[in-house]
Amino acid sequence: MNHAPVSAKFIFVTGGVSSSLGKGIFCASLGRLLEDHGVRVTILKLDPYINVDPGTMNPYEHGEVYVTEDGAETDLDLGHYERFLGIPTGQANNVTTGRVYSEVITKERAGAYLGKTVQVVPHIIDEIKRWILGLGESGGYDVILSEIGGTVGDIESQPYLEAIRQLRYELGAGNTLTAHLTLVPYLAAAGELKTKPTQHSVKTLLSYGLQPDLLVCRAERPLDADLRRKIALFCNVEPEAVVEAVDAETIYEVPVLLADQGVEELVMKRLGFPLAAAASSASWREFVCRIKSVKRTVRIALVGKYVEHQDAYKSIAESFVLAGAESGLGIDVHYVCAEDVTDANVATLLDGVAGVLVAPGFGSRGIDGKVVAAGYARSQDLPFFGICLGLQCAIVEFARNVCGMEGAHSTEFDPYTRYPVIDIMEDQKAIADKGGTMRLGAYACQLTPGSRVQRIYAADHVEERHRHRYEVNNSFREELQLHGLNIAGINPDRDLIEIVELPQHRWFVGVQFHPEYRSVVNRPHPLFASFVEACAGYAASHGHG
Ligand code: GLN
Repeated sequence: MNHAPVSAKFIFVTGGVSSSLGKGIFCASLGRLLEDHGVRVTILKLDPYINVDPGTMNPYEHGEVYVTEDGAETDLDLGHYERFLGIPTGQANNVTTGRVYSEVITKERAGAYLGKTVQVVPHIIDEIKRWILGLGESGGYDVILSEIGGTVGDIESQPYLEAIRQLRYELGAGNTLTAHLTLVPYLAAAGELKTKPTQHSVKTLLSYGLQPDLLVCRAERPLDADLRRKIALFCNVEPEAVVEAVDAETIYEVPVLLADQGVEELVMKRLGFPLAAAASSASWREFVCRIKSVKRTVRIALVGKYVEHQDAYKSIAESFVLAGAESGLGIDVHYVCAEDVTDANVATLLDGVAGVLVAPGFGSRGIDGKVVAAGYARSQDLPFFGICLGLQCAIVEFARNVCGMEGAHSTEFDPYTRYPVIDIMEDQKAIADKGGTMRLGAYACQLTPGSRVQRIYAADHVEERHRHRYEVNNSFREELQLHGLNIAGINPDRDLIEIVELPQHRWFVGVQFHPEYRSVVNRPHPLFASFVEACAGYAASHGHG
């Protein structure tokens, strides 16, 4: 394949032995360290499944769907990338096998390969290479980190490994680096860390023509010098390129643990970057200190239907960590299964919490419980934060119990309700396809002068990310306002309600967008920061925490 010359350098990250070793956190951490040295970095996630994107997948399958500014529905690792690097990602930062095949097949139908047999080699491999190189050709980055999903040896990751093998060959030594994340298990019976799985994993990688330059060993305990030498000898890497990644107290400590082993310097040297005199990692280290030294914990309920699988609410959970760190608070997220909540038990289930967040979601399971939880928070003056479906449930509750609209509902759950206070957006009615067709990505929101949120944001106009088909029905706007609901944010282009609040309440805010996608380290989202403060205030005045 002929490609334009690229000035960027490429780091490929593979994983072996086991899944869930934290490749995403490693990539985000390494990216962050390089950034601290003035290297401009972006990260690409390559996912070997056949869905075109994770947007149509159940969070039980895949965890949270992360939404970028430009409206891509992506893997949750992109959330880590943004929180660690502090810069936005987009459509070009997540590729799946489904997307690769779909592009190749579209081109084939258009006649792009006329006369040729279209095959995995070279056409699929070339398409994968095009995605990787594409980010490098943009000129905006010095380093493109590519994380290959899955584990080496999986049938479905083979084309990705072949693509990076070819890129290593074509781009030449000094322009690429391969890091392999592996597991060094501790066997209690033998009383030692075992290197054999790592040796086998590297052998598998070698069978695809890939020699790792850096081995990152996940382990429960530190690796001593002998063990590193042993791994180095059997895996063909320098001993200083065998680094450990021991279980950290918080994921935000990983960059610090890697920096203490000089990982980014080793990487920069291999890729030919001059080392900056001093890296600017002080603010990161201070942030980690703040997280590790929190003195007070506040308990906040997260009412959702995927609570057994906490990855489903990853960005919300991390937004709490980031907001808490700002004010020296630890947030103990109390996951409450929406399906369990009833009028009879809500006081017991929410006993001892200092605030309630009702989570986003789709489908009717757990809706009644979410409506009850919103009502309880409203009537008890308990801080309340409703996100997307959480806002919609709060509106349903308010309409029924404050405005007297019996049976008010969202037409997503009751198409024949007399009071459709939440209704499908006009432009969504004719859409039949489910993939990538919601109102997605960043849209403008004009904040109402004098509102609580205007004070919190200290702005008149914000941009927030969306992922929804339904919306507050404007024909009920006046009635809701008449009963005390403040419309605190509006999309100026389409007059859609973006934020509601109850001015008489201690802290009651519902947002149609997803603020959790915009929290980054040392810049927590203002709404999360304010909500957490309100919860801390509630806890103090009620004698908990
Ligand atoms: N199901 C609702 C809608 O489509 C809410 C979506 C969400 O919470 N992200 O509007």
